[in-house]
Amino acid sequence: MNQPKIKIGSHVSMSGKDMFLNSAKEAASYGSDVFMAYTGAPQNSKRKPLEELKIEEGRAYMRAHGLSEVIIHAPYLINLANTVKEDTFRSSVEFLTSEISRSEALHSKVLVLHPGAHVGAGEEAGIAQVVEGLNQVLRPDLKLTVALETMAGKGSELGRNFEQLARIIGGVRYPEKLKVCFDTCHVHDSGYDLIHHPEEVFGAFERIVGRDMIAVFHMNDSKNICGAAKDRHENYGFGQIGFEALQRIMYHPDYLDIPKILESPWVKDGHNEKKSYAPYKQEICSIRENRFDPEMVEKLRAGNGE
Ligand code: FE
Ligand code: FE
Ligand code: ZN
Repeated sequence: MNQPKIKIGSHVSMSGKDMFLNSAKEAASYGSDVFMAYTGAPQNSKRKPLEELKIEEGRAYMRAHGLSEVIIHAPYLINLANTVKEDTFRSSVEFLTSEISRSEALHSKVLVLHPGAHVGAGEEAGIAQVVEGLNQVLRPDLKLTVALETMAGKGSELGRNFEQLARIIGGVRYPEKLKVCFDTCHVHDSGYDLIHHPEEVFGAFERIVGRDMIAVFHMNDSKNICGAAKDRHENYGFGQIGFEALQRIMYHPDYLDIPKILESPWVKDGHNEKKSYAPYKQEICSIRENRFDPEMVEKLRAGNGE
């Protein structure tokens, strides 16, 4: 199998007493080149102090195991688009500021951020508020870029099309500090046809947002059809996008250098509801070998994953 070299990895957790070291170990156990983590629970803003994250130990482990990069995902409680609750906006700005310093301390070059939801105030007001929020946190001396994620378009989510992302990026004072996280499930769910017309989709992206604006891919399949605006991920190759269409993006010559992160659902044990298995080792293997195993999920469910 002489597949071109890619940078593939998955979402991993950062928890326990070993925190970042744990993340690096989990990533290596899947055979990853790169990985993505939240700095704590994605739903809340409780965070451990930097000294307790085991950053140096994690970095040493990364070097020893060929892990070249870590990407941080900001928690989803951040909503810079909120014009309705002053408090939410203010705490979002504050939390994003501290998340940027944590990400820099972890030597992450990319911090993924959901643009936000306008919660009924409308697209115009929402986008203006996101721009205002980003202007309060982006500084010219930042060593990382904030990657705005393409969103599926459920509820009042912003970032549901390339135009909205372009307006946010075009509106801020330091646009060079912004990039995009291209989530294939979300782009498909928001109505772009990645199955039959991927070149048109990437052409539109480059025209509207710009060339070299993708900092990271989230390589997810979708449980729903194109345009469903749902945002429910499926295991790689098992959803509506399918293995072939995902592999075409995975190995797209223009984006070989860009880190690709899997955010697939864990597979529940067939006998024990409380047990579930990470699918990443198997998925990464099938991606590298370019061979789809239609029984992968069933095998995991039966506990034969290891
Ligand atoms: Fe995300
Ligand atoms: Fe994502
Ligand atoms: Zn998603």
